[in-house]
Amino acid sequence: MKRKFGNLLLWFSLAITLSLFVLAKFSGGGSFSFGWLTLSQLLSLLGTTLLAFSFLLSSRFSFLEDWFGGLDKVYRLHHITGGLSFVLLLHHPLFLLIDVLPDIGFGWKYLWFSNLLPYDWGVASLYFMLLMILLTLFIRLPYSVWKKTHELMGIALIFAVLHILTISSDVSRYMPLRYWIIFLLIVSIASAFYRRFLYRILGPKFLFTIKTLERRGDVLVVGLQSSGRQMNPWPGQFIFIRFDGMGNETHPFSIASIGLDGSIRIGIKILGDHTLQMVNLKVGDKATSWGPYGKFWESYMSKKDLIMIAGGIGITPFISMVEKESQSASSRKIDLIYCVKTEDEAVFDLDLKALSVNIDRINYSLYTSEKLGHIDAEKIIGIVGPVENKKIMICGPDIMMNSLAEQFLSLGVKNKDIIFEDFNFK
Ligand SMILES: Cc1cc2nc3c(=O)[nH]c(=O)nc-3n(C[C@H](O)[C@H](O)[C@H](O)COP(=O)(O)OP(=O)(O)OC[C@H]3O[C@@H](n4cnc5c(N)ncnc54)[C@H](O)[C@@H]3O)c2cc1C
Repeated sequence: MKRKFGNLLLWFSLAITLSLFVLAKFSGGGSFSFGWLTLSQLLSLLGTTLLAFSFLLSSRFSFLEDWFGGLDKVYRLHHITGGLSFVLLLHHPLFLLIDVLPDIGFGWKYLWFSNLLPYDWGVASLYFMLLMILLTLFIRLPYSVWKKTHELMGIALIFAVLHILTISSDVSRYMPLRYWIIFLLIVSIASAFYRRFLYRILGPKFLFTIKTLERRGDVLVVGLQSSGRQMNPWPGQFIFIRFDGMGNETHPFSIASIGLDGSIRIGIKILGDHTLQMVNLKVGDKATSWGPYGKFWESYMSKKDLIMIAGGIGITPFISMVEKESQSASSRKIDLIYCVKTEDEAVFDLDLKALSVNIDRINYSLYTSEKLGHIDAEKIIGIVGPVENKKIMICGPDIMMNSLAEQFLSLGVKNKDIIFEDFNFK
C-alpha cells in the first residue's frame, strides 16, 4: 500500500488542480464556454502539476523510495511526468495562438519575445525546456554532459515561476487556485535546490577507504572499509560513489558483498570514460558514497522460492543476496543463473561456487551463450524446473530483461512475480 501512495498522490494532485480550475471558472458567478483558451489554461495548470512532481522525483529525498517503490521506479516516473508536462506546456501557447487566429500579429507574443515581460518569461521557459528536451532525445551526449544540461532545467523552472506569478490569469484571480499553484512551485524549487546544493551535504553520506583492489578481466573488484559512520545496506542495494581525485561525479554501483565490520565490496565494469579512470585507483584511496538505495531486496526478503537471472555485470546485486542466504536458516530454494558470453567473462563464478557449494537449496549455474545460445524462458525452465509460485528476479542488459519478461508473461507468470533491477537511469 505504501508504495502505491506516491501514484495516488500524483492522481490526487492532478484532480485538485482540475477541480480548482473548474471552481475558478465559476467563481465569477457567470458561465464559461469550453474552447481553445480554456483548454490552453487547463493544460498549463496540469503541466505545472506534473512539472512539480518531476522535480520532486529527481530530488532523491529518502521518502520517495517508500512512496513510489525504489529509485529506479522513481526515476522512471520522473521521466514520464517530465515528458508529459513538457508536452502539455508546449500546447499551452499553441492553443492560445489558435484561439486568436487569424490575428497572428496579436498571438505572436505567445510564441516569441515581445515587450510584455509576463509573456516573455513564459516564452523563455518554453524555449529553454525545448532545448533541454532536444538535447536529451536527439543528441547522444556522454552521460556526464547530459546530466549537466539536465540540471539546467532549474533555469526553465525559474522562468516558469516568474511567468505564472506575473501573468493575469485564473491563478492571479482565484485565491485557492493561486495558493495551490504557489505550493506546487515551492515543492519544485525546494526539490531542485535540495538536489543541486544540499543533497551532497545532507544526503545519506558515508565515507570509505579502499581496502582491497582486484582486477578481474574488465571488472574491478573494490573492497571498501567504512571510515566513519557504518552503512547497513540490504543485500542487493546500490550506492552512488565518488572516489577522491576523480572529480565530483557520482556513479551507481550495486553492493556485491556486505561485511559485519562495516565493509562492502563492489564490482565495477570498465565501460566508459569515468570507469576507465578507475583503473588508477589504489588501496588506501578515499571514497564518499550516498545511499544505500533500491528496493530489489524486498523480493529477496519474501519467503517465496526465487529464480535469479543475471546477465554479465548484472550479477553484482545477487552476490550479496546469495551471501546472505548462505548464512540464513531458511528452507526456501534459490536458483541463480549467471549468464555470460564466455567463461572468461564470469569473473564472479568462483565466489558464487564457494557460497553455494555446501548448500543444497541454493542451485548455482553458469550459462555461457557462446556454447548454449541466447538464454530464453524455456532454457531457464529446463535448468530450474517449474516457475509457478516463484519470484523471478532479473538483472542484466535491458534487451535481455525485457525479452525474458515477455516470454515468462506469455507462459502465464504473473507480472508482480517478475522483478527487474535496472542499471540504466538515463
Ligand atoms: C542501480 C544501478 C546499479 C548499478 N550497479 C552496477 C554494478 O554493480 N557494477 C557495474 O559495473 N555497473 C553498475 N551500474 C552501471 C554503472 O553505474 C555504469 O556502468 C557506470 O556509471 C558507467 O560510467 P562510465 O562513465 O564509465 O560509462 P558511460 O559510457 O559514460 O556510461 C554508460 C552508461 O552508464 C550510465 N551512467 C553513466 N554515468 C552514470 C551516473 N553518474 N549515474 C547513473 N548512471 C550513469 C548511463 O546509462 C550511461 O549511458 C549500475 C547502474 C545502476 C543504475
